[in-house]
Amino acid sequence: MPAKYLVHTSPAANRFEPITKSGIIAWEEGCLKCAVCVKKRCVYKVYEKRGLNPRQMIDSIDNLCMNCLRCVQGCPRELIHKSISPEYAAMGDDYWSPDIISKIWYQAQTGKIPVSGAGYPGPFSGPGFDSMWTDMSEIVRPTRDGIHGREYISTAVDLGGTEGALCFGEDGLVSGPEIRLLDIPLPILLRMPVSRKISPNIISGWAVAAKRLGTFLAVGAEEMVAAPESCRPFLMPILDGEVACPEGVRVVESTFSAEKDANSFKSGNDARFVCLRLPMNTGIEERVLAAARAGFSIIHIEASPNGSFLDDPGKTMKDGIRAVHLGLVEAGIRDSVTIIVSGGIAMAEHVPKSLICGADAVFVDLALLVALECRLCGRCDMDLPCPVEMDKAPPPWVAKRVVNLIGAWHNQLLEIMGAMGIRDARRMRGEAGRAMFFEELDKSTFQDLGRREEGCEIE
Ligand code: SF4
Ligand code: SF4
Repeated sequence: MPAKYLVHTSPAANRFEPITKSGIIAWEEGCLKCAVCVKKRCVYKVYEKRGLNPRQMIDSIDNLCMNCLRCVQGCPRELIHKSISPEYAAMGDDYWSPDIISKIWYQAQTGKIPVSGAGYPGPFSGPGFDSMWTDMSEIVRPTRDGIHGREYISTAVDLGGTEGALCFGEDGLVSGPEIRLLDIPLPILLRMPVSRKISPNIISGWAVAAKRLGTFLAVGAEEMVAAPESCRPFLMPILDGEVACPEGVRVVESTFSAEKDANSFKSGNDARFVCLRLPMNTGIEERVLAAARAGFSIIHIEASPNGSFLDDPGKTMKDGIRAVHLGLVEAGIRDSVTIIVSGGIAMAEHVPKSLICGADAVFVDLALLVALECRLCGRCDMDLPCPVEMDKAPPPWVAKRVVNLIGAWHNQLLEIMGAMGIRDARRMRGEAGRAMFFEELDKSTFQDLGRREEGCEIE
């Protein structure tokens, strides 16, 4: 049995006061000046510890408050209120919601799984990955001593393709082309977010994180000089156009045309592996098939940051991954290619859900920036000052925050695999039978009832 893979995390404090969901509003007007004010009864001593952060001009009360509502309920004149912070509500967008952003901050800070209390208060279905539920039937009979015990759950995956069958020569030995694989200990690769200005400090920190995690960081060929030399084997330079392959790397990513033969590209490059990047557009399944038949053994499919097709926001990456996987299965060449997906991987649950839909691994991109306290305000795109001074983030802190985030996601992957009774992440690929899809359940349950026409009365 190989050594157990563990991601070692350690707290990495926030550099700035985080934006919290709710704030305290305490009116002074009408105060009765009670002998024992409810503010003095706060068990967390929030009002006593309250202060002003002069750098950010932020009142610390919102961060110190634990939301017990004791003071809100106890004030006889109802002068104390809790309200949703408008700054919090304005963060991100519909997909990268304030809740997702604040949970990424928490995981990057602590390396721990966020716990929201008993029960699940959210909706049970929604678009994209939210319309999927995994089969947790094994949760009632977990392994002898839990997912971190003696029974091994492997999250390792291979990058590269294998032959459909072994060939033997007359001497009885295995013959045929050499099978070349790169194995990484978890199905997560890191990637520089597109269309964002990233400072050399951050590239350096991300590269160190990729090395510590034993995975790869896909980074622009021009930007990779910022990474320490020792991290080079863990970099995947992105070669757009005819850029020469940098020395010392094991795999490169290219947009090289799938119509040409993959081998003609490989022969001109030092890297042993080439990852072909294809946009997730309509007809992606045919393009992936063509690329796999042309000899590309690692294919990266890039969806939009909001988890949809790039040319059609109405189609979700979940459906795109399923179509690609089933196309390769029907063609009988699924094992000859590794599929990595990117875009919209915003939560830990998106990793196992992508695998169940048919991906081998995922690229995490925008979440790497959010781990560094990014608020997704977009000010950097407009050349305005960053509220969290992103370019001043020290590389060791960057590396720690990213390792913490991926460590928390890795633990959540183990939880899901343990609950599903799956001991190997490679076995999870395409296991759609172990998941339920809202669209399919809706169809099979209600299609016999027919369609209700607009304006038609139901008796
Ligand atoms: S809501 Fe609770 S924790 Fe927050 S300030 Fe009031 S008493 Fe303290
Ligand atoms: S300005 Fe800073 S916080 Fe805002 S999106 Fe850019 S990096 Fe993130």
